[in-house]
Amino acid sequence: MSFASLGLNAQLVQAINECGYTEPTPIQRQAIPLVLKGGDLLAGAQTGTGKTAGFGLPMLQRLSETKASALANGRAPVRALVLTPTRELAAQVEENLRAYAKHTDLRTLAMFGGVSINPQMKALGRKVDVVVATPGRLLDHVSQRSIDLSRVEMLVLDEADRMLDMGFIRDIRRILALLPKKRQNLLFSATFSNEIKALAEDLLHQPEHIEVAVRNATAETISQRFYGVDKNRKRALLSYLIGHHNWRQVLVFTRTKHGANRLAMQLDKDGLPAMAIHGDKSQGARTRALSQFKDGQLRVLVATDIAARGIDISELPHVVNYELPHVAEDYVHRIGRTGRAGSTGEALSLICHEEKPLLKAIEKLIKQSAELEILSGFEPGPEEVQPATKPPANNRGRGNGGGRGRAPTAANNKAPRSNKPNRPQRHGRHDG
Ligand code: AMP
Repeated sequence: MSFASLGLNAQLVQAINECGYTEPTPIQRQAIPLVLKGGDLLAGAQTGTGKTAGFGLPMLQRLSETKASALANGRAPVRALVLTPTRELAAQVEENLRAYAKHTDLRTLAMFGGVSINPQMKALGRKVDVVVATPGRLLDHVSQRSIDLSRVEMLVLDEADRMLDMGFIRDIRRILALLPKKRQNLLFSATFSNEIKALAEDLLHQPEHIEVAVRNATAETISQRFYGVDKNRKRALLSYLIGHHNWRQVLVFTRTKHGANRLAMQLDKDGLPAMAIHGDKSQGARTRALSQFKDGQLRVLVATDIAARGIDISELPHVVNYELPHVAEDYVHRIGRTGRAGSTGEALSLICHEEKPLLKAIEKLIKQSAELEILSGFEPGPEEVQPATKPPANNRGRGNGGGRGRAPTAANNKAPRSNKPNRPQRHGRHDG
């Protein structure tokens, strides 16, 4: 199937060819014709499925087919608004839209915090058709009156579940109140909590529903491996895996900012060029780390879930879960950084005894069982009785296997529980 057969015009098809896309992805096949028809859309899809082009291409086509109504002050109005949870995602979505709009006269602009507001204000003085923004910075512009949202014809909430998780619901509602009532709304979300359903109900009018199964994304293009290892041997195992397999590029997930910093420093000391990205890093540092990683100067990028959200590195071959996430869905988001849009990838998870309940929740979600592999030299010691772990800070109301106050069970349920720890471990500092 070709992009042209989905109803896209010659300018867009040319841009898509220049991006190197030969065939639409499943989400694009479903979303493009529906969005072109002008109705609202509720789409279940995560990053990596090609969803940006899924909403972006038909959005650009609709905008180019109609003329904007001029504002009283003579400025061309902002006609489409895409809201994203993170700065990285805003930058990336805008970059993609700019590439798709290359042969049209439509102009795009990314607006996110952590960088000076002035260049964004200056850019808003020129013609901007599509704004891709994080909610906070957009509201800064609203309060400075540098943007007028009263002519927005299309709204996209990208990764809506993550925006709600990050506490943006009030900002989103404030933004919605500034938009004209008549507009086309597209909501993309990887998961559907009751909160998302409530938002969709308020926002969307007789939406079409489409869904790209998460399981396909994990099963078909990503090979998943799970290594059993003691917590205090994880770093050694990670260095070994990187060195032994000579990986040139690996994205490593930790649960906390502190853990990300510490691991990046240690890997760097091990001679593996590594940097951490997380919410406490300045935007400059995040952008620098990401571009060095993309350029191949940096071998290891260590990231927390939120910072890594939406990172798109084409053909990222390896993702490592240094620690499992507390929320099983985040596992799917994390490993979705590899094996994207057709290429294959490998996702490795390092699992210590106390993470086994989290692993169980993940197995349930991905509907696959995880075989724990043990590497010689990294054999875990017998399972110890663990102190109670802190409950997930943010479990989105889903049962994730618990783990609180209960001794973890081994994945194969055979490991004897020992009251004689062979290697005393301190659990005083909790990284969760
Ligand atoms: P997204 O889910 O929008 O973040 O897209 C994931 C990656 O897939 C991006 O690098 C896109 O440039 C790429 N991509 C999107 N659509 C296609 C396609 N039809 N063929 C090949 N790559 C694509």
